[in-house]
Amino acid sequence: MSTSQYDLIVIGSGPAGEKGAARAAYEGKRVAMVEASDALGGAVASQGVPTKTLRETALSISGFLQRDLYGIDLRYKEELDIQTFMYRERRVQSAQQAEVAANMERHHVQVYTGLASFADAHTVCIRSQAGETTITGDVILIATGSRPVRPPSFPFQHPKVYDSSTILNMHKLPASLTVVGGGVVGCEFACLFGALGIQVSLIHPAQHLFPFIDHEISRLLLESMQEMGIHLYMPERVAEITTSSDDDAIQVVLDSGEHIQTEALLASVGRASNTEKLELEKAGVPVAERGLIKVNEFMQTAVPNIYAAGDVIGFPALCSTSMEQGRLAVTHAFNFNYKITPANQIPFGIWTIPEISMVGETEETLQAKGIKYIVGRTRYDHNPRGMVLGEKHGLLKLIFAADDLKLLGAHIIGQEACELISSGMLALEMEATARDFIGLCFNFPSLSDMYKYAAYDALGEYREGERALADR
Ligand SMILES: Cc1cc2nc3c(=O)[nH]c(=O)nc-3n(C[C@H](O)[C@H](O)[C@H](O)COP(=O)(O)OP(=O)(O)OC[C@H]3O[C@@H](n4cnc5c(N)ncnc54)[C@H](O)[C@@H]3O)c2cc1C
Repeated sequence: MSTSQYDLIVIGSGPAGEKGAARAAYEGKRVAMVEASDALGGAVASQGVPTKTLRETALSISGFLQRDLYGIDLRYKEELDIQTFMYRERRVQSAQQAEVAANMERHHVQVYTGLASFADAHTVCIRSQAGETTITGDVILIATGSRPVRPPSFPFQHPKVYDSSTILNMHKLPASLTVVGGGVVGCEFACLFGALGIQVSLIHPAQHLFPFIDHEISRLLLESMQEMGIHLYMPERVAEITTSSDDDAIQVVLDSGEHIQTEALLASVGRASNTEKLELEKAGVPVAERGLIKVNEFMQTAVPNIYAAGDVIGFPALCSTSMEQGRLAVTHAFNFNYKITPANQIPFGIWTIPEISMVGETEETLQAKGIKYIVGRTRYDHNPRGMVLGEKHGLLKLIFAADDLKLLGAHIIGQEACELISSGMLALEMEATARDFIGLCFNFPSLSDMYKYAAYDALGEYREGERALADR
């Protein structure tokens, strides 16, 4: 058995591990990375970006966005085979994984393939088919991510009962798909299969989707999912799932007594942190419910030389935040003169059809805080570029403080929402007001111009309020 000594050991090669390792190595630290999988890049490379590729493929093959413009239905036909559908997804997945490997090589990070576990707070054992290796590190960053929860009541032995990882290995597109769980991942899959014309049912235990999203936006998403033909069972819960050995059909019985017969089923009912194989007790790191590791604002666990970042520490469990946390952890651990606080504004992007993005406060969070606000809206179908695109459900909604008209939140549903939100994020960071948007000259025709008209809308409401006060 050999032993090597490092300044930093990173466990996991997803966005948190990759960016933490690269940052420390860039600053001259001797870094090792341990990854259990043969491919680097974690969930975002193997599932996150591939699902976005599938979404683009589904939109492009089905002509979904152009259907209403040209009055033709180009949706999925029986002859679309899974190889055609998955072709780009698989190419993008390997390109992403190769990119992470190249980044580690560029930074001279020593990559070990194998399952890592702690022997003590500074020692990590790596088990692989080749045997066992032990390495030691001054600092250890746990970035082992999360995996889908697989409730024992779901018949995962059935070849067409999937979780969000295994669904990417399906061999044939089903005629019908039932998605259990209307979280971000469940809704993204429901929409992409719905766009192909597959009969999709979505079962979700609450009346609203995404409690953290502005309710007006999530209502618009529900409308558009219904229009796409997705059957919504909300609020509903699964009482029982049975499978038939004769025809392989899957029967879902709901609490209400309703039955759904489906060819395939996706369970998307939450995620659990990958901590159970780490033997964290040997390092003295406590573990909470669902395997979560608790950290302070610097990503430091209860053991000072051990940090944790990414999905393994829980919400918001995004690629973007995981990368931030990985960098922040090593900055604190080695006292680098770099980014020492997390970003003030965290945007959320949801790749449903249409896509959704938001930054800052929602109407609901402001109401809960008792803060007075003014809302300005512009619809995509009132914007020339939106008209060209034929976006029916799109909306850009800005929320401003009622007193000084400072931007408090930006919310978008519609094409390019995840790109468009960046202007809102920058404006929030710069403490811009509605008048600042009106002072800008945007490209024409452009979706960005909607910021100006949403600001006009808010100013109109503001003046109404002023007039009402003057009239009293
Ligand atoms: C279907 C899907 C779609 C998504 N879409 C988006 C999106 O659009 N935008 C977004 O921001 N986020 C998205 N996410 C979330 C995003 O993928 C995660 O937040 C992100 O990957 C978390 O990064 P991480 O570094 O914490 O962990 P991961 O990416 O999960 O990486 C952890 C790595 O650790 C390895 N590992 C685990 N245990 C051990 C061990 N004991 N020893 C060695 N290695 C180990 C794993 O093999 C894995 O490679 C999506 C996730 C899914 C599943």
